[in-house]
Amino acid sequence: MSLRVPSLDRLVSELSKLPGIGEKTAQRLAFYILRADSSFSSRLQEALFDVRERIHSCPTCFSYTENDDECDICSDLHRDSTSICVVEDPSDINRVENSGAFRGIYHVLQGAISPLDGIQPEDLRIKELLARIELSESSENKVKEVILALDADLEGDTTALYISKLLSGRVRITRIAHGVPFGTDIDYIDKRTLGRALENRVEI
Ligand SMILES: [Zn+2]
Repeated sequence: MSLRVPSLDRLVSELSKLPGIGEKTAQRLAFYILRADSSFSSRLQEALFDVRERIHSCPTCFSYTENDDECDICSDLHRDSTSICVVEDPSDINRVENSGAFRGIYHVLQGAISPLDGIQPEDLRIKELLARIELSESSENKVKEVILALDADLEGDTTALYISKLLSGRVRITRIAHGVPFGTDIDYIDKRTLGRALENRVEI
């Protein structure tokens, strides 16, 4: 429904593209922004600009970082670098971190294998994971375990199977399991359940 104010309509149209935001909510947000103090708009604009300009992928784990080089987790010498938790998206790292059940390092695939959507293994950071493991073999921090914290859906299963075949015999491969119902995006698991799922991970 057009508000017949072109700039406001444009703002509503952009906001309604956000996940979980319907047209009504987008209108409410747009009116809020319009009525709010002008400093709010400036801060919002600045924040939007900064996430685009400052954030890039960590060259090691492919999570997000503002650092010039590696992210804070990769460069933290207190983390156990012999255990890599593989996740689909950077946001999954926060979930695993909040569970408090993992002190290793991460690897972000930047998605999951989904032939129906045209996403093949080579579109993901799988070769980079393999390279990290190979590189570690000549160091004192040889990777011993890869924990697959992937979504419990068809894409997550396909990806887990592909990676487990690739790494078979090289490292211990486990997947978070109990308490994670099929079809669950790990974004929606509460931290206690995720902590338990990590502790009860199973060999694959
Ligand atoms: Zn990193």
